[in-house]
Formats: sequence, structure tokens, C-alpha cells
Amino acid sequence: MSKETVLWGRYEELRPDQIEAIKGERSVAYIPWGAIEYHGVHNPIGLDGIKAYGLCLELAQAAGGCVLPTVYHATSTIKSVKDLAHRQHSIEHSEKLLKLLAEELFLQLADEGFRVVVLLTGHAGQPHMDILKDVAKECEKKCLDSRFWAIAEFDIVEDSVLVANHSAYGETALQLHYRPDLVALDRLDEGDAPTLERDAVWGDDPRPATAEEGAKIAEAFVQAAKKRIDELLR
Ligand SMILES: [Zn+2]
Repeated sequence: MSKETVLWGRYEELRPDQIEAIKGERSVAYIPWGAIEYHGVHNPIGLDGIKAYGLCLELAQAAGGCVLPTVYHATSTIKSVKDLAHRQHSIEHSEKLLKLLAEELFLQLADEGFRVVVLLTGHAGQPHMDILKDVAKECEKKCLDSRFWAIAEFDIVEDSVLVANHSAYGETALQLHYRPDLVALDRLDEGDAPTLERDAVWGDDPRPATAEEGAKIAEAFVQAAKKRIDELLR
């Protein structure tokens, strides 16, 4: 547990007294949600989870609270998109499993006394994202003492900073910010911009992405999310 301006910690590393101290100050739990999903030849298959975990850690350092270990169970991966031929390097789970897992995590964390539970999904497939948001809404009806907030990072920042993308400029910049050692932009062909069909890239060309740009995106996300968490805690 580290004390900076606020108390925060990685949940699985904390002792009970440390958890109670964090909860006493800022009763927030974060669930980083990723996927095992093909992200082209230039990024690791765990990009979504690595990104979500990194963002949750930075957010917890600003807003306080406990960050859970990353969940890598996802539905709606690129493997399930009929018109695409990216059939390997993804693990596709059922919608039923996703729903159940999200609901149990939300309700268990509420039972543990967390007043705000934030689920950040780094994987933006659909209906994966909508399922998690729907579960959050259902849990709010079931459990009136806690607030449940499910988001993707691009939901709460300006479009000029970040838009939904797959292994394109935004995701690659964030990956370069958190784990530059896992990115290999030189594996992409020179010449024409990468495409979804050939390269599994959906969105702006990732080749000019930088760690500095990733840090800026993370900062914008943390600012916006902290503001909302402050409101939810009130
Ligand atoms: Zn992704």
C-alpha cells in the first residue's frame, strides 16, 4: 500500500487493516477488465487488460481505493466477427459467463463494503461492453448502498483525445505508455495505413503513436474519472 496524496493499493497484496484504512478514506474498488484477443502483429494479445490495469492503477493513485486483479474473460472478440479472418490468438467466452462474473464481482465488492465499484473495460467489443453496463445498472437496483459504474476509457474523454479503436493509434499509444517492451511497430508493413481486414487495426494509423501521447490520454482519463468518482462518493 502506498501513501501519496490518497490511500490506494493492489487489492490482492493488501492485509485486512490496510484495506480497512483505504475504505475508511476512499471506499472505491476498481475492476480492470480485459480480453485475450488478437491485436495484430504489433501488439500483445493482452493489450486490453494491460491497458485497463494501468489506467486503474493511475486512477487509484489519484482517487484512492483498491484495484482488483485484471479479469481477462471477454465476449465479442475479433475471433467472433464473421466477416474477418482473424481466427487465432483470441479466447472467446460466452455472454452468460460475462454477465455472471460481472454480477458476482459487483455484488461481492458491495458486500465487502465498497461504496463505489468502478469497472473499466479495456475491451470495447459489442455486446461485451453493453452487457457490463447493463449488469452495473441491474446491480444498482439490487444493492442500494453502493454505486456501480461500468465504462470504457473513451466514454469519458473528449473525442479529440481518444475514440474507440482496435490496436490503432489510441490503444497503441496507451500500450507504449504502460508496456513499451511489448509493442513492435516495426512488424507492421511500411507504406499504406494498416487495415482491419489485413492487420486487425480499426481506427487511426498506430505507427506514429508514442508513449508521450499515451501518457496524455491516461491523464485526461484519470481527471475525468476522478471527478465522477468524487460525485459518486458524495
Ligand atoms: Zn483492444
